[in-house]
Amino acid sequence: MEYRYLPFITLSEIKPRVWITLSGCNFKCKACFSPARNVIGKKMGVDELVKLVKKSSLNYYQRLPEEIIITGGESTLNRDFLLELVSKLDFGDVVIESNGFLLDEEYVDELVKAGLKEVMLDLKACNEDLHEWYTGFSNRPVLRSVRVTHERTKLIVKTVYMPGIVDESEVENIARFISRVDPGIEYRINDFKPQKGLSRTPTDQEMEKAYSVAKKHLNNVILSRSCRKERIATNKKSWITVFPNGTYKRRSLKNYK
Ligand code: SF4
Repeated sequence: MEYRYLPFITLSEIKPRVWITLSGCNFKCKACFSPARNVIGKKMGVDELVKLVKKSSLNYYQRLPEEIIITGGESTLNRDFLLELVSKLDFGDVVIESNGFLLDEEYVDELVKAGLKEVMLDLKACNEDLHEWYTGFSNRPVLRSVRVTHERTKLIVKTVYMPGIVDESEVENIARFISRVDPGIEYRINDFKPQKGLSRTPTDQEMEKAYSVAKKHLNNVILSRSCRKERIATNKKSWITVFPNGTYKRRSLKNYK
């Protein structure tokens, strides 16, 4: 039986949406913010995990989720597990978040056939040396996966703006690269939250400048800050964590981790 380790799943308060966090990652990003980078949580097979998603959603929303986002860590590490999981989550729209390294033509074809609706792909840097320094791996398979994924399903590309590391010029290189695949691809620029003594939080002006340079090449650019600004006002700003044993914990923006 195929399995992965699961620290928790997360329920949105805004709509019936569930995130599945699969722990473990193939990259070694210098400023990784994810507690799920290392293998933590309970060893779980697909059926047990799908049961947890259904039961938690029915308990909390009194219905099954409209959207299920499989994230990590890295979602794609165990191919057979992921294909089976996507096919058994057929009651909602399934999205994966991925660093793209393993997503070749055959893998994406199989995922789409299993029912995948969208890929949110992290493109950390266009410059190969920079990517290798930051993640420990070449970005060639990742750059290839942008085209491969776009040709097969809905694709959103994301980059974290890190002053002095991935800044305006690198964002422009990434935007230029994406535009050669399709200038209509949605591109999100997120602001860095300092980790492990690396870089700092970008200023509003730096983020706006990054937006402007990306906009020169792409039609659909979103700043994480504009995401927050444009989000429909709601006083619901917390998430519900459900652990593998079925216990719940509410997390707010303050204690997100
Ligand atoms: S790809 Fe994501 S989870 Fe993996 S090391 Fe990098 S930031 Fe962490």
